[in-house]
Amino acid sequence: MYRIRFHGRGGQGMKTASRILGTAFFGSGFEVQDAPLYGAERRGAPIFAYVRAARRPIHERGVIDRPDLVVVADDTLVPIPTAGVMAGLGERSVLLVATGEEPAVWRDRLQLQGPILTLPIAAEERAELRFVGASCAAAAARLIGVISWADLERATQQELAPLGETVVVENLRRGRAAWDAFAPHEGLVVEGAEAASQVDERPDWIELPFEAARISAPDIHVAATSTEVRTGLWRTIRPVIDYDRCHRCTWVCSTLCPDSAIAVDTEGAPRIDLDHCKGCMICVAVCPTHAIETIPEGEAKHAESEEARP
Ligand code: SF4
Ligand code: SF4
Repeated sequence: MYRIRFHGRGGQGMKTASRILGTAFFGSGFEVQDAPLYGAERRGAPIFAYVRAARRPIHERGVIDRPDLVVVADDTLVPIPTAGVMAGLGERSVLLVATGEEPAVWRDRLQLQGPILTLPIAAEERAELRFVGASCAAAAARLIGVISWADLERATQQELAPLGETVVVENLRRGRAAWDAFAPHEGLVVEGAEAASQVDERPDWIELPFEAARISAPDIHVAATSTEVRTGLWRTIRPVIDYDRCHRCTWVCSTLCPDSAIAVDTEGAPRIDLDHCKGCMICVAVCPTHAIETIPEGEAKHAESEEARP
């Protein structure tokens, strides 16, 4: 059975990548499971999706904890423990990272036993990664080596058709480029063994007594801890307010920010809390005067470090 996990941020198309790969596997005659996992957060939050594919019925369920292949669309997720990118990587697991850095840099950095490959991402595309999903799916399919380009092409068309012909054509172009680029590594991903059943005998029924919510609901021991979760780490694009164009209508941006990351200062001007702004860009969309601009987070950090130099 093949077990593949895709990691990315909300909005980067990893759920779509898993659907494309799952549909392509299915078109090639495999039994397939594909499922995304994400919370109530929006764009920018770490998410993952997984695909299982086998030539026999799949009885294994739940999140993949021992992947044969892990695909990472956004390299800033690798060092975030809660994103779970490194979870379960074994000595034969392949790690594919979409990044602007060379594979040798990642090998040196991560010291993994298994192969590490990179899908090159141009610096100007780093912020939005609009087409990375189809490229990741195509690279994964080629690394696995049991899916034909025709099946992958059909799956890409099927999954992206609701987005229109232009999107399909551009994704196919990029998918084909990734497919060709990974030809030298075709078949690198080795199919993992079926998991042995952990239950030898059918278990007896267990009667669970009904308990009222007052007893069975979880205890919350410490209140008001959400400010300790620095959702600003998720941001790939930074909103920047142009105060010359800002009309101080803070009931718009401050109220609609889902993370309450826009406060109002004593002069009535909006101030963004960058520790908790996750980069969803809702404020940019709702600002009536278009006073909020966007810049890639990497550029913003670089400018900050230049300013801080003595
Ligand atoms: S919505 Fe736009 S113009 Fe209004 S306060 Fe916010 S940034 Fe300023
Ligand atoms: S400040 Fe803007 S980009 Fe940041 S979380 Fe709030 S709405 Fe989203």
